[in-house]
Amino acid sequence: MRNILKQYFGFDKFRPKQEEIINSVMAGKNTLGILPTGSGKSLCFQVPGLKYPGLTLVISPLISLMRDQVEALNSQGIPAAYLNSTLKKKEIDSLMVDLEAGHYQFLYVAPERFNSEEFNALIRRLDVPLIAFDEAHCISKWGHDFRPSYQSIIPILKKLLPDAVTIGLTATATLEVQENIQELLGIETENVFTTSVARENLHLSVNRTYQREQFILSYIQKRSDVSGIIYAATRAEVEKISLFLKDNGVDNVIYHGGLGKGERNGNQQQFVSGEKDIAVATNAFGMGIDKPDIRFIIHHNLPGDIESYYQEIGRAGRDGAVSECILLSSPRDVNLHQFFIDRSSSSDQYKDHMRAKLDRMIQYSRTSKCLSSFITKYFDPDEYVEECLTCSNCKNPERVYDMTSEAAVIVELVEVCELPLTREQIIQVLRGEQSENITSHSLEELESFGRMENYLTGEISHVLEELIFRGWLHIEEELLYTVPRSEAVLSGEAVLKTVPFRKHFNEKVDVST
Ligand code: ADP
Repeated sequence: MRNILKQYFGFDKFRPKQEEIINSVMAGKNTLGILPTGSGKSLCFQVPGLKYPGLTLVISPLISLMRDQVEALNSQGIPAAYLNSTLKKKEIDSLMVDLEAGHYQFLYVAPERFNSEEFNALIRRLDVPLIAFDEAHCISKWGHDFRPSYQSIIPILKKLLPDAVTIGLTATATLEVQENIQELLGIETENVFTTSVARENLHLSVNRTYQREQFILSYIQKRSDVSGIIYAATRAEVEKISLFLKDNGVDNVIYHGGLGKGERNGNQQQFVSGEKDIAVATNAFGMGIDKPDIRFIIHHNLPGDIESYYQEIGRAGRDGAVSECILLSSPRDVNLHQFFIDRSSSSDQYKDHMRAKLDRMIQYSRTSKCLSSFITKYFDPDEYVEECLTCSNCKNPERVYDMTSEAAVIVELVEVCELPLTREQIIQVLRGEQSENITSHSLEELESFGRMENYLTGEISHVLEELIFRGWLHIEEELLYTVPRSEAVLSGEAVLKTVPFRKHFNEKVDVST
């Protein structure tokens, strides 16, 4: 595998999880890779595709993505082609002949292609040992970019190519989406490979300014010659922001679904080539844009869910250099999303799902927690997180207080008490409340009883939630347990700095005795 990596792609070593994914595919197992944008997902199916005899079929949602990847493979001397609606009938016919003759190692297609009986008949005749689903989250109904055509081809492919190995790749999958993809593509959990979603070079911030356009203008004016994208929710807003920037001397291109194809491609080209530094766009822009040096992404509006936000900011800093991702938003954005959800023709269950996702996005815009950790936890609630120290919440120290001693009191109680306790019991013990919940288990006899009697319920709860959030306590079926990491809180090695529950929380009470 390393030889292929070197020979065809010119790289010396694999990036995290690439090798595991490739080995799993080569062992004939259906495999799922969840790796952040820019981490090298394409190689995960391209290397096995070169190793397997026959043709690798790549299902891809976007024509521009297909074209870029095929061009890249061809430039490395690898025979690859795409088959989509941009080709003329004659080109398709000749491609089909070449495919039949075994001239290609990779074929990129959009899911719609399987509506063609002629194409399906050809696939049946070919030797196709490997199928790759790029952007695999599009398969899942619970994903942020569900494409029914992506899902509907699964049974067709199973019939056409019952023995092919399947690999799915995505940058954005919550646990729910991951499980859904696994079920649909028949992937065992041991063959799912993920790396942390956190990307350290992306510095996140939330700014609740009321003057969004002014903010964007002065942000850009302070930086010359750097490239960035401003995302807005609607075409009208894109036009308005673009005009405002131009009126103030900031040149830019716009991109949204309402432009003609020629203009859209031209604008995209100007941005990617570096001729124009700034793009103002709707979320239609960016998927498949491989511009390595995008230094900032500003969201003028609140996206509808964290997956979309994560995907959009993922376009920044692909070269690994520090890039800023700034979220501006107004309460009106929330109303607009709610309106669209209410008005949609989806089932009630689906609408509830969308509302829950929107709630998490709103929480992100209002949280005082580390923003990077918030996103990591969204995708994997069990992942251990550390503060990034680079997001706007981490960098705002005057709002942050040292709660380590309070945290230690809570952890000690959980550690010492033989009976696993609920959140409520912990708070009541520490506040010294003599309720039935406490006395029936003789919890008032614990040494910690009343140790935080001067704290409000909400304050203790706040520290407790921080401990759970950071993975310093573990919760299972509403009961709390210590974990090996909890030791660091007791020994004073771990420091818990958090935004207070109420302003005067820093008038600290001595809990050390
Ligand atoms: P993704 O699909 O995960 O967003 P790509 O597959 O487009 O990412 O890869 C991003 C970049 O990383 C590409 O320029 C690719 O050539 C490069 N890359 C991939 N794997 C490696 C590797 N093992 N070593 C060095 N560069 C790599």
